[in-house]
Amino acid sequence: MIITKKKDIKDILEALRGRKRVYLFGCDTCAEQCSTGGKKELVEMAQILKENGFEVAGSSLPEVTCYRQMVLKEYREKEEIKDADAVLVLACGAGVKTVADVSKEEVPVLPALDSLYLATVERYGRFFEGCSLCGECVLDDTAGICPHTECPKGLLNGPCGGAADGMCEVDTEKECAWVRIYARLKKQGRLHLMKKIAPPKDHSVAIRPRKTLLRNPARELNSKK
Ligand code: SF4
Ligand code: SF4
Repeated sequence: MIITKKKDIKDILEALRGRKRVYLFGCDTCAEQCSTGGKKELVEMAQILKENGFEVAGSSLPEVTCYRQMVLKEYREKEEIKDADAVLVLACGAGVKTVADVSKEEVPVLPALDSLYLATVERYGRFFEGCSLCGECVLDDTAGICPHTECPKGLLNGPCGGAADGMCEVDTEKECAWVRIYARLKKQGRLHLMKKIAPPKDHSVAIRPRKTLLRNPARELNSKK
């Protein structure tokens, strides 16, 4: 899940300065779970905009706002989007980008949220960063605990020597990621992996923008007919 936080409303109003009619997009998956872009937040944002002299042309809450087909459907079905002279998106950056790509280029599409990180969800409202999407996963050697993400220094060969009583020297409230890796590998009878030297990360595998183009079996079948 992508974790987001609300931008300061003063910054949002400033970005909308000079615009009259605003259309709102939320996202019924990640932003809804973060309480930043679900139904409730869309209603609240519409109210704030009205109180500040804007008209709200309408709103959409796609199930997944970073999914182009779902955003396109809203643009096809909702005439009122075409009347808006700005679109405000309460979703992660990927959602904003998707709406911006589908929208008329003359109409500014603005983010209402800041995108923070990819999280595992312990339960509703409790999110923890566990992966930085490095493109070269080492969790097989580290017992499912990511040193790249969970160690504040990102040490692939740890620990750093600063841990005290098992706690991290950077964040003393948190157990050292490498102490946890050691303990888990020990339980698994794989402690020999602590002696394995991890090579430097190959950052060339994560050159941006990254993309994945899965083959489309249906299209391939048709082309053979
Ligand atoms: S090593 Fe860490 S950051 Fe890289 S893919 Fe695996 S979990 Fe994600
Ligand atoms: S104490 Fe552990 S988690 Fe903290 S920076 Fe050092 S190796 Fe990383």
